[in-house]
Amino acid sequence: MREMHLLPVSPTWYRREWSGVGIERIDEPHVHEFLRANIWHVVGRDRDLVVDAGLGVASLREHLPHLFTHDPVLVVTHAHLDHVGSAHEFVDRRMHRDSVVDHNMAATLRGPELAHLLGADWPGMPPLLVDATPPGFDIGSYTITAATPTATLEDGDTVDLGDRRLRALHLPGHTRGSLCLFDEEAGALFSGDVIYDDILLDDLHESDVDQYVATMLRLQDLPVQTVYPGHGDPFDRARMLEIIADYLRTRAPQLLTDELHVGPLDQGPA
Ligand SMILES: [Zn+2]
Repeated sequence: MREMHLLPVSPTWYRREWSGVGIERIDEPHVHEFLRANIWHVVGRDRDLVVDAGLGVASLREHLPHLFTHDPVLVVTHAHLDHVGSAHEFVDRRMHRDSVVDHNMAATLRGPELAHLLGADWPGMPPLLVDATPPGFDIGSYTITAATPTATLEDGDTVDLGDRRLRALHLPGHTRGSLCLFDEEAGALFSGDVIYDDILLDDLHESDVDQYVATMLRLQDLPVQTVYPGHGDPFDRARMLEIIADYLRTRAPQLLTDELHVGPLDQGPA
């Protein structure tokens, strides 16, 4: 396609930073903020956890081989292209049964096409959602490679890293199969697109507002201290409760009685 000749090629595709004890954040800086998702790498005693797998435009195995050295288990929070792209590169990959990508999936880095693909009405999307490409990448033939799970995760299932145990929480609303992973001991929630610090998307093909409301009510009762979201920076419990309250105010104002007004002081693990 013509635009690929106009874009610079970036040999370095991923950006890494430590973002907590034994938690590394990886993202794709040449991707527009709208589509730029986090990959969370959690170092465990017996094995590592990787939460989500980026857009799949650059091989994770080639660019970030350290992710694959400690028997990693990949958990995909949901089957949107910005979270599942490189899932096929992992030997052990788990997701909810409603997030299974069992065939090569249409994908695009063009804004208006993406809105159409996801079923959203987003005027003003930029024509292109990247400002560079990795070497050898062809925007015109971008698709998501099928990645059938080696195991499906249901609500309550655990992922055991030896010194950390994370519980899968099925929290639909953004998509039917949306999962979060919760490390209760650390109060750490890997939330995918269930909650992040921006406008929450509940108007896509697979979204369901009633389910999203129920998900928010469940989330606010969890002893979360830090949210590691699918997009943007981590945030604390107080901010999580504000985001939940904002969502409920918009989508379910009838629920916002006095008892549901949440404050940061009465929360926290025992
Ligand atoms: Zn999503």
